[in-house]
Amino acid sequence: MSLTAELGTSTAFDLGPARALSCRECGHETPLAAEFACTQCFGPLEVAYDFGTVTRASIEAGPRNIWRYRHLLPVPADVQEHPNTEPGLTRLIKADRLGAALGIRNLWIKDDTGNPTHSFKDRVVAVALAAARELGFKVLCCPSTGNLANAVAAAAARAGWDSVVLIPASLEQAKVLTTAVYGGTLLAVDGNYDDVNRLATELAAEHEDWAFVNVNVRPYYAEGSKTLGFEIAEQLGWRLPEQVVVPVASGSQLTKVDKGFAEFGKLGLVEPTPYKVFGAQATGCSPVAKAFAEGHDVITPVRPDTIARSLAIGNPADGPYVLDAVRRTGGAVEHVTDEEVVEGIRLLARTEGVFAETAGGVTVATTKKLVESGQLDPDAETVLLITGDGLKTLDAVSGQVGPTATVPASSAAVRNALADRD
Ligand SMILES: *Cc1c(COP(=O)(O)O)cnc(C)c1O
Ligand SMILES: [Zn+2]
Repeated sequence: MSLTAELGTSTAFDLGPARALSCRECGHETPLAAEFACTQCFGPLEVAYDFGTVTRASIEAGPRNIWRYRHLLPVPADVQEHPNTEPGLTRLIKADRLGAALGIRNLWIKDDTGNPTHSFKDRVVAVALAAARELGFKVLCCPSTGNLANAVAAAAARAGWDSVVLIPASLEQAKVLTTAVYGGTLLAVDGNYDDVNRLATELAAEHEDWAFVNVNVRPYYAEGSKTLGFEIAEQLGWRLPEQVVVPVASGSQLTKVDKGFAEFGKLGLVEPTPYKVFGAQATGCSPVAKAFAEGHDVITPVRPDTIARSLAIGNPADGPYVLDAVRRTGGAVEHVTDEEVVEGIRLLARTEGVFAETAGGVTVATTKKLVESGQLDPDAETVLLITGDGLKTLDAVSGQVGPTATVPASSAAVRNALADRD
């Protein structure tokens, strides 16, 4: 509990360096609470901070997960004392073989398949859970089509909370099982994702102690994505890359990677060197790429039709802010076909031994397209965000890859099969 009367805002909640919620449109500030829309203009709210002193040494002395950045996140000082999924500090690997295939000289992969439930969603959910506990919630909830459902059910299980996860009834069996296994309440809703989302907003208003991570505690949840930017900078040896390519669904992640880089620069943790942020979408759900190409500031919603389901948000809430970040830094937003997505998955696996889900295929294939069209500088140091594991979307490659040959158990047959390979 803290009272910061000298700043004119008082709050009953200890969310570390978080001072208030501030409107991204009009700047109006409100005290920390489970709010997500501005009372003045209905604009989205974002966490505003008063950062204390944070040094490279203090971060390096922290735990080997996202809580090493707890002094830069809206979480209580004692966050580590409560069970959570402790995601983050996933590997950043030099990708020379993929770089050679794409014609990029200095390429890195931030491999977020290594998180507890195998996608970057563990980062945002961990921060949402920590904030939700302080805000007095008791149940962790979300509408989801997959990765978020996994992350919410797992985090709630570890914390000993109940969870309420809403999914469209038509969801693939694999995503149902990988959520249901964690226990909690899993409701398959008759309807599509838009229906599920609407239902979540309604339920959030009815149930005082239900925290829908991406609805009523969204400002806190979104901040979790900053840790991707922080980790990339720290793992590069406390400096910023020159280019970063980020997959775009709601667009939140891209804007927060940018925010993470900017905060590290402002805090003097890295030299504030220039960088360009690029967005990647699947053609079957590319409203942000379309607005970028047409020079528009507003996003025209689309009906998604792509195998990249984790990116299939037809009406992306943070779309306009993605356009801002990309245009301000000199980047671009591009899109690739489902065929190119599968090629991207296979190229990454073949060259670097990293099996990504469809969102990773979108990032790799979009990077290829950006190089070929001259929008991405092949001589500048570049980081690709690989945000989810290929085991989550096996359908994308089933039928595309398989055994080289089926052979009897004899060395002669193996010899023949090897000779037939090419
Ligand atoms: C949710 C998700 C994203 C994109 O997240 P946004 O912040 O909504 O743009 C990217 N990759 C994967 C694997 C995801 O699950
Ligand atoms: Zn406002």
